[in-house]
Amino acid sequence: MLQQIIKKINCPNCSEENEVILWEKVNVDMNPDLKEKLFTEEINNLVCKKCGFVSRIDIPLYYNDTKRKFFIYLIPDFPIDKKEEGKLLSNLREKTLNILDSGYNNRKRIVFEYYNLLEKVLIFDAQLDDRVVEGCKILARTQLKLLEGRAAFDKIENDELVFNFFEKEDLEATKNFSVPKAMYNEIKELISEKDIDNGDEFRIIDVKYAVRMLMN
Ligand SMILES: [Zn+2]
Repeated sequence: MLQQIIKKINCPNCSEENEVILWEKVNVDMNPDLKEKLFTEEINNLVCKKCGFVSRIDIPLYYNDTKRKFFIYLIPDFPIDKKEEGKLLSNLREKTLNILDSGYNNRKRIVFEYYNLLEKVLIFDAQLDDRVVEGCKILARTQLKLLEGRAAFDKIENDELVFNFFEKEDLEATKNFSVPKAMYNEIKELISEKDIDNGDEFRIIDVKYAVRMLMN
């Protein structure tokens, strides 16, 4: 399966034409180094050969972990329109029927931002359920009055889920907060009662999902 394409792209700074290697699929088991580059933001970058300017090329990207069995599809700047969204989800399901067996159920996701892709990888790598993590996040943020900006799961430490918090457009985390694993387990029960989806569809699990599950 072809995983990369070569594209001619003009530098946004000096307009010089550059050839860039772009990855469309990251299979972690086949290319573990690509995962690292994803986290250090070293893939799908244009580094201009003339002026050295670095810019990220946002293209749709698959992330497939065939051992832990999760699949995340990043679609940057996708118009959030309910009708389009539904079409996209069912197309993806059909397209991947042959590659993704039932072991992937409940771990097939679509994200629209690069940082969401990274967060999902961290969540699934930690063997957590992202539906529950989103639930923990929204409850903690409401309690801490951290509703502006964004929060992202970082790691598990001392039996607590640690989240980074970013003020509005900040790229660096300014605060962090944590949620005890016991609370995670409580929310897990709540969500498994409410969300009886069998999980063979691609899903968007984000803050809106958490609000639907826990705030209504
Ligand atoms: Zn340039």
